[in-house]
Amino acid sequence: MNQRALFFRHVGLTSPQPMGIEVERAEGIYIYDKAGKEYTDLVSGVSVSNVGHRHPNVVKAIKDQADKYLHTMVYGEYIQTPQVQLATKLAEVLPGNIDSIYFVNSGSEAIEGALKLAKRATGRFNIVSCRNAYHGGTHGALSVMGDETMRNAFRPLLPGIRQIEFNNPEHLSAIDETTACFLIEPVQGEGGVVIPGKKYMQQVRQKCTDTGTLLIFDEIQTGFGRTGSLFAADWLEVAPDIICLAKGMGGGMPIGAFASTQEIMNLLTFNPVLGHITTFGGHPVSCASALASLEVILDEKLDIQANHKGDLFRAFLQHQAIKHIRGVGLFLAVELIPEVDVFQLIQVGIKHGVLLDPFLFCPNTFRIAPPLTISEEEIRESCRKIIAALDEMA
Ligand code: PLP
Repeated sequence: MNQRALFFRHVGLTSPQPMGIEVERAEGIYIYDKAGKEYTDLVSGVSVSNVGHRHPNVVKAIKDQADKYLHTMVYGEYIQTPQVQLATKLAEVLPGNIDSIYFVNSGSEAIEGALKLAKRATGRFNIVSCRNAYHGGTHGALSVMGDETMRNAFRPLLPGIRQIEFNNPEHLSAIDETTACFLIEPVQGEGGVVIPGKKYMQQVRQKCTDTGTLLIFDEIQTGFGRTGSLFAADWLEVAPDIICLAKGMGGGMPIGAFASTQEIMNLLTFNPVLGHITTFGGHPVSCASALASLEVILDEKLDIQANHKGDLFRAFLQHQAIKHIRGVGLFLAVELIPEVDVFQLIQVGIKHGVLLDPFLFCPNTFRIAPPLTISEEEIRESCRKIIAALDEMA
């Protein structure tokens, strides 16, 4: 059997039609397949490769750390330099007074940890989240996901969950003195890059403060420069009590985190002790990679650059099949006219050497979330490829 056949035979799959690109290597904003074909990556492995594929600083940090040590002990027992350095840097740049970072392996695990922390801190178990929200695939994360179709086959899920409409202040009455936390993506990702009003977010903050509810921001997709500042919380000017991170955090290596104040985080050290356990969380190679990636974002001001680059996409990407482009920074949702099928467009895009991706909960729309390192010329070129794909479908 060739590799493609072995992939379909032995790799556990959940997608009925995987994109099936046979990856040979990746560099900057490009991915190359086994036949040597070049693809412009406008997906970033879903908002992961914020500093581009194999950024030299990231690769060097990974190699340097691999030469020293890999896994030595389960999380939180030994003092490991990459972890300490990353936590210290994050404490400097995270919103509000968040200064204690618990490292995990993925976004879903960050959500699990955050929900547990909120229950532990408040002694309450009711949780409010939003319709059309995506928070991950594990049981807790699935329980707060805002889509019935995705959840129904896996019931029973966590009790005490209520879902409200995103960006609707009237629905905030669901948050009360029995609510442990309100979990919200500051910009809804899989809902199709839905941007809330600043005033709404301030009302959210106030409601949580008034009711003693912990506000959790899921910045797993929006974090690390994607929306034009390091975190969406920065331009929304609202600080959460707990923040969840992953994806773009690792520079291409798997890592996530939930973070809060030391006072709240310390609650996981007693009643019970070891309130959250992870073997691989904060792996030293992932932490070294994440620190290098964060320094690139900050040094090159990639977060701030994302605003102008997003505007360039809007300016260059004009076609009669495009109904609307919505977004913030380099997190864009391109809505097509109903006559054009987004899944077909993605296939035609592959032919033209450009990688696009749909959203889970936003029909006939594709995402543009390229590495933040993309240049003006590369933006022009990728828009030309999308337009050629759209022309072919006309
Ligand atoms: N939260 C958001 C907003 C996400 O976009 C995702 C993944 O797409 C997750 C959580 C889950 O992250 P992971 O796939 O690393 O478990």
